[in-house]
Amino acid sequence: MSNTVKTQVVVLGSGPGGYSAAFRAADLGLDVVLVERFSTLGGVCLNVGCIPSKALLHVAKHLVDAQNMEHEGVKFGKPEVDIDTLRAHKNKVISQLTGGLGGMAKMRKVNVVNGYGKFTGANTLAVEAEDGSVTEVTFDNAIIAAGSKPVKLPFIPHEDARIWDSTDALEMPFIPENMLILGGGIIGLEMGSVYSALGAKIDVVEFMDQLIPAADKDIIKSFTKSISKKFENIMLETKVIAVEAKEDGIYVSFEGKKAPAEPVKYDAVLVAVGRTPNGGLIDADKAGVEVTDRGFINVDNQLRTNVPHIFAIGDLVGQPMLAHKAVHEAHVAAEVIAGKKHFFEPKVIPSIAYTDPEVAWAGLTEKEAKEQGIKYETAIFPWAASGRAIASNATDGFTKLIFDKENDRLLGGAMVGSNAGELLGEICLGIEMGADAEDLALTIHAHPTLHESVGLAAEVYEGSITDLP
Ligand code: FAD
Repeated sequence: MSNTVKTQVVVLGSGPGGYSAAFRAADLGLDVVLVERFSTLGGVCLNVGCIPSKALLHVAKHLVDAQNMEHEGVKFGKPEVDIDTLRAHKNKVISQLTGGLGGMAKMRKVNVVNGYGKFTGANTLAVEAEDGSVTEVTFDNAIIAAGSKPVKLPFIPHEDARIWDSTDALEMPFIPENMLILGGGIIGLEMGSVYSALGAKIDVVEFMDQLIPAADKDIIKSFTKSISKKFENIMLETKVIAVEAKEDGIYVSFEGKKAPAEPVKYDAVLVAVGRTPNGGLIDADKAGVEVTDRGFINVDNQLRTNVPHIFAIGDLVGQPMLAHKAVHEAHVAAEVIAGKKHFFEPKVIPSIAYTDPEVAWAGLTEKEAKEQGIKYETAIFPWAASGRAIASNATDGFTKLIFDKENDRLLGGAMVGSNAGELLGEICLGIEMGADAEDLALTIHAHPTLHESVGLAAEVYEGSITDLP
């Protein structure tokens, strides 16, 4: 059976990129078809990414905080975790948001077509539903937003139910007694924080010489010191060379600086070594769209591919693979199709690890400033000197600002500490608006707050604070 639909804009994929593009295009008066292979909208972020991980991290933080209040005079008993209720709570959070998206699509008269979409020509896409029926979509413009999926390693028996990717870990099949996180990036560390709070003993192995390799060394040094109190073993400059699934556990062999001499037995292994784009899975070549060997689609600063009426956004156009980047790209692509002369040229795409403590950074890192030969100076305000941090038992952290030495402009900023992600907004806005140290230092920040640390770091830069611990 086959259906035919004609539209001004087809959007392939309904993640943060896809639904944002579809909604913006519809709001601008365009006729839109949104293609999604799964029954819910929202893509990785809402279904198996940002949102479920944060629902679990929220619970994890409360569990850890409650256990750490003894010296403040409050002692709780050992927490009892009902994993089925926790999973149901997480699923409810997801369905609240994905259901909301369904309503928003309906309200805008976006035509959602469920099924797997592949190009059949420069203006045609075939969408095959689960029951085998096909919808032929003829379009004037297309926005490819097909996202990414977890990288699998060839020597790992991924089919074993105890070897997880992030989607499996979020499903919480069981709470392992001990667990290896393979890959010290944001996704692995967030899931490690969840399982550690639920009672699992966590080992992390990372090939590079620091966790979260994209962030500056000093920030990560402080983070690693804090997280080492929760995790059993952090093995940097070490790699996994073999993984064997046996009846009594997963046996992992290591090589490198911190490698244990013998294979270690784990109840579960989370493979979190990155994500790979889905660009190669949609027959883009049939539309004439070039896809790189790695599955990325190259675009210009209006998100246009090499085929002028076909755009691409989100994870499959490159790093950073983040939801907020996808959303902003989506808006530009939809607006360009609607005839606006807009461009995607952000100064800042913030990054946050929602671990405990959180790690957050935006703008230039020190490493990037060095690489670009920029004369910069950093200013640090340690949270050990913050009244709010001391009152909240959150002194493990600091705020760092990076200024252009020539004009005192804010180039970048980073924080490690409780709720650092929520405090990053001021730094993002400051960089986008071209703020300098004086702007930040003269802005009256409320006291006592952690965001005060931004103004205080600017005062450190200006030399008006010199007596820090
Ligand atoms: P996706 O969200 O990947 O959506 C693509 C959609 O396209 C999917 O629904 C897929 O089913 C559909 N699709 C693909 N191919 C086809 C096809 N051929 N036909 C039909 N449909 C198709 N980012 C953040 O910014 N903050 C976070 O806190 C954060 N946490 C994360 C936690 C985890 C565990 C993971 C895995 C990711 C996290 N991310 C986070 C990353 C974020 O989820 C992605 O950057 C974001 O979802 C990318 O959006 P997208 O629109 O490009 O694609």
